[in-house]
Amino acid sequence: MMKWLCTVCNIYIYDEEKGDADTGIIPNTRLFELPDSWRCPVCGASVDKFIQFLEDNKILSDKSQHNINFNTVLVPTTKILFK
Ligand SMILES: [Zn+2]
Repeated sequence: MMKWLCTVCNIYIYDEEKGDADTGIIPNTRLFELPDSWRCPVCGASVDKFIQFLEDNKILSDKSQHNINFNTVLVPTTKILFK
């Protein structure tokens, strides 16, 4: 069972183990088993906007930090290679 974070609002987390009682989803329903009509209860985003949520890693802050580092490293390296 996994947890999924809505990337549109960054608030709602769908927990497969718990389902979502408010929208009538029974526990142990996988994300891909949700009806096509299912939407994020917070912002109304569709299921394809969800990404896997890893509780141990703060996925969003890690991701943005990674992007910054990647750009910072990539630019000087490219300059060196093409000199
Ligand atoms: Zn949402």
